[in-house]
Amino acid sequence: AQLLWITSLVAENLLTREYANEGLIRFAFTDYLTGVKTRGYFEQQLEMEIKRAERKKSPLALLMIDIDFFKALNDRYGHHVGDQVLRDLASILMRDMREIDTVARYGGEEFVIVLPDTNGPGAMLVAQRLRKAVEQARFFAGSARVIERLSISIGVAVFNTDAQFKRDLIEFSDAALYAAKAQGRNRVMLYSELAIAASRKEVS
Ligand code: GH3
Ligand code: MG
Ligand code: MG
Repeated sequence: AQLLWITSLVAENLLTREYANEGLIRFAFTDYLTGVKTRGYFEQQLEMEIKRAERKKSPLALLMIDIDFFKALNDRYGHHVGDQVLRDLASILMRDMREIDTVARYGGEEFVIVLPDTNGPGAMLVAQRLRKAVEQARFFAGSARVIERLSISIGVAVFNTDAQFKRDLIEFSDAALYAAKAQGRNRVMLYSELAIAASRKEVS
């Protein structure tokens, strides 16, 4: 009986430690400001998802998101309000995502979303839905009486039609984001459309 008791104690101890580790890991990969995943988690997850997509011969989309004119909001209300707005924006981004999607903070006010099993048209639908949700949202700037509107620009690239490597996928979604900004902001650009437009220009 004593042996059984000791065994159960050891098991319980191991289990508790397991749970604690799990919590610690989750904490380490969560962005402290916004609650989305960290850049480090994103890099690992993207690598894993690319391998999976290769194996399953399925597509994989990457969304690169940047807030439009965010500096102006910070300048007007201060960083404290800017941080709160970042948190509210992050929760909009996370709201309608599937369990398998990864939402992460890539840099200051830039976010990335990994969409497994998603092709160009599918990713564009998701991106447009997010863009509209942010466009329609009202952000509290310090108090409930001061309301600000925001917009986001999104660049989309797809594995493995646009890119065959992780680094290219990130770079191309960033290039598409840059084009969305150049075309006036509050819009979504697909890298493959950008490439087609560029080749047309070369021909003409
Ligand atoms: P646009 O993207 O439309 O070109 O203009 P922008 O003003 O948003 O330019 P950019 O993307 O370069 O903006 C970066 C600004 O975002 C700088 C800084 O004021 C703000 N920012 C970045 N990280 C944080 C953060 O963690 N907290 C707050 N409050 N502001 C941040
Ligand atoms: Mg910005
Ligand atoms: Mg930026």
